[in-house]
Amino acid sequence: MAILVRNLFIFFIFTILLGIGYGSWQLEHKLRTVTYSEFRYCLANHDLKAITFIGNRVVAQHADGDKYETTVPNAEKLISQLQEKNIQINFKKDRSELIFKTIALIYVILLVLTVIISLSKKKRLEEEDNKFATEKLILPDSGTSLVTFDDVAGIPEALEELQEIVNFLKNPSQYSQIGAVSPKGVLLQGPPGTGKTLLARAVAGEANVPFYNFSGSDFVEMFVGVGASRVRDIFKEAKTRAPCIVFIDEIDAVGGRRAGGATASGQDERSQTLNALLVEMDGFSSSDTIVVLAATNRPDILDPALRRPGRFDRQVNILPPDLKGREKILEIHGAKVSLSPGLDMNKIAHMVPGFTGAELANLVNEAALMAARDGKNKIDYEDFEHARDRILMGVERKGMIISEDDRRALAFHEAGHAIIAKSLPEADPIHKITIIPRGRALGQTQQLSVTDRSSYSYNYLKSRITILMGGRAAEEIAFQQRTTGAQGDLVQATEIATNMICKWGMSDVIGPQAMAIDDSGFLGANVQRLEMSDKTSESIDSEIKKLLDASYDEAVTILKQKFYLLKQLATILLDVETLDEEEFEIILACHFTEKIAAGIQATHQCRECPAADTCIHSKLKK
Ligand code: ADP
Repeated sequence: MAILVRNLFIFFIFTILLGIGYGSWQLEHKLRTVTYSEFRYCLANHDLKAITFIGNRVVAQHADGDKYETTVPNAEKLISQLQEKNIQINFKKDRSELIFKTIALIYVILLVLTVIISLSKKKRLEEEDNKFATEKLILPDSGTSLVTFDDVAGIPEALEELQEIVNFLKNPSQYSQIGAVSPKGVLLQGPPGTGKTLLARAVAGEANVPFYNFSGSDFVEMFVGVGASRVRDIFKEAKTRAPCIVFIDEIDAVGGRRAGGATASGQDERSQTLNALLVEMDGFSSSDTIVVLAATNRPDILDPALRRPGRFDRQVNILPPDLKGREKILEIHGAKVSLSPGLDMNKIAHMVPGFTGAELANLVNEAALMAARDGKNKIDYEDFEHARDRILMGVERKGMIISEDDRRALAFHEAGHAIIAKSLPEADPIHKITIIPRGRALGQTQQLSVTDRSSYSYNYLKSRITILMGGRAAEEIAFQQRTTGAQGDLVQATEIATNMICKWGMSDVIGPQAMAIDDSGFLGANVQRLEMSDKTSESIDSEIKKLLDASYDEAVTILKQKFYLLKQLATILLDVETLDEEEFEIILACHFTEKIAAGIQATHQCRECPAADTCIHSKLKK
C-alpha cells in the first residue's frame, strides 16, 4: 500500500502545483470583467473599436487598446446597436468548455494510470519478495552447498558455542520438555574472512536443516517499506520450513545504530527494516524452531536493541586463527589440491602470521596457480613462499628500471634493517631480504615471529622502531644523504611510538594514562588523541620525539659498529637481489661477525673468504 499512497501523494502535489501555476498565469492574463451596465455605459459614452462574441460573452476593445469582457443577455439586440454605431463585430467559437472537459478527462486518465501502475509495481515487488526468500534457500539435501564442522578449523571456541544451537535444532523437544527457552539469535562478530559465513553454513549442515542465506544489503532498497516487508515474508516462509536457520550476513547494513529523529528516507528505510526484524524475532514462539544467525565485522555500530535478551543475546567472537589453527585450515584447503608429499603445513603456517581463513584459502589457491604456471604437477614449499610474497607485497616488478645509485641506496637500506634486526635480542628473526621491487615497495626485509604474539612488550616495540630506523640510518652512514625511501618506515615508527605513549602508557613522563582512543587494528592503527590540555599535548609530542630520536641514534650506533658487515651485505644483495634466512645466517657466520661486533675491521673481501665453501657467493653461484 505504501507505494500507492506515495504515488498518489506525488500525483496530488503535482496537481496542486499545476493549479497554482495556472492560477497565477490567469491572474496576469485574464481579461477584466465588467457588469453589463458598465459595458452599456462604455458603449454609449466611449470610443469602442471592436466587439468579439464568444458564446454569450463579449470582449470589448477600445481604440486605446483597453480590453474587458462581460456577459450579454441578448446578443441580437446588441448586434443591431453595434451596427448602428459602426463598430467592428467579430465572432469566435467558445472552446473553454471543450478545453475544460479535455483537461478533466486527461486528469482522470492520469489518476487511473497512477493507481494501476502503483498496484502492478506493488504486485511485482510482492512476487519478487516471495521469490526472494525461496531463491536464497539452501536445502539440506542439496549436496555440495552445505558444509559441516569438519570443514571449519582454527576457531574451536566458536564451534563449541554453536554446538548447542546444533543440538537444539536437531532435538528441539529435549529443550522444550524441561521448559528451556530456545536460543533465538546468535551474532557472529569478527574481522572479514575469519569464517563467519562458513560457520553459519556449517551449523545448518551439522543440524541437517534448511538454510536461508541473506545479506544485510538485500534489505536496503530504494522504496521505503520494501526491506521491512521482505523481512516479514522471509520469516513467514521460514516458519513453514522450521526447524531452519536464517542467516543475515553484514547485518550492520540494516542493524546500524538508529539516529533519533532522523527523517532521511535511507535512514527511515533502514530503521523500518530493523524494526521489522526485531518484531519478527520477538514474535517467535518456543515452538518455532528457527535460529537467526547474523554476522558483522562492525559490532561497534550495531543498534543496542539487537542485543537485547530474546534477540541476538548470544555473541560469538571469531578472531584470526593462531598457528595451530592456521595449520589446520591449510590442511583442510590443502586436501583439495595436489601437494608435494611431506609438505610441512606447520612451516607454511609459520610464514603467514595474522592470516585469516579466507586468506589461507587464497594462499593455497595462489600456490596452486604458481605451480600450474610453472608446469609442475605438485605444489611445493617454494610455490607457497611465492604465493605469500605475491599476496603480501604484490607482483614482482622485475622490469622496473632503477638507477645504479638508487639500487645501491636500496641495498644499504635493506641491509640496515636486517643488521639491526639481527642485533636486537627482542626482534623477530629475519625471514627474507630482497631488493626486487614488489607492488609499491622497492625492497623488503621480512621478519617472522616464532610464536603468535597476543601482547607486545616495551622492548619488543622499541626494537621494532629501531629496526624501522635502520634503513634511513644505513643510507645516512653510507652516503651521508637522506632519501624518500624511508617514508613508509617513518610513518610506521611514528605510529608505534604514538601508540606506546598515548595508548599503552609506556612513558614515565605521561604515566599510565590512555591519551588516545583505541581505533581498530594494532600496529599502524590510526591513533586519535583524546581532549587534553596544551601542556599535556606538548609533553606527549616531546615523549614521542624522544623515543624516535633514541631509536634512530641506537640504529646509527649499531650500524657504525657493524659498518663492514653492512657494506658486505649490501654488496651481496646488489649481486643476488634476494637472501633467505639461511643465506643471511651464512653471511653472518663466514664474515667474522663477532670480530666486526668487537670493532675489529676485517680486511678480506667476500670472494677471498677463507670459509669459501660455506660462503654465500659460492652457495648462491652453485
Ligand atoms: P567471513 O564471512 O567471516 O567474511 P567467510 O566465511 O566468507 O568469511 O570465509 C571465506 C572463505 O574462507 C570460506 O569459504 C573458506 O573457504 C575460508 N575460511 C575462512 N575461515 C575458515 C576456517 N576457519 N576454516 C576453514 N576455511 C575457512
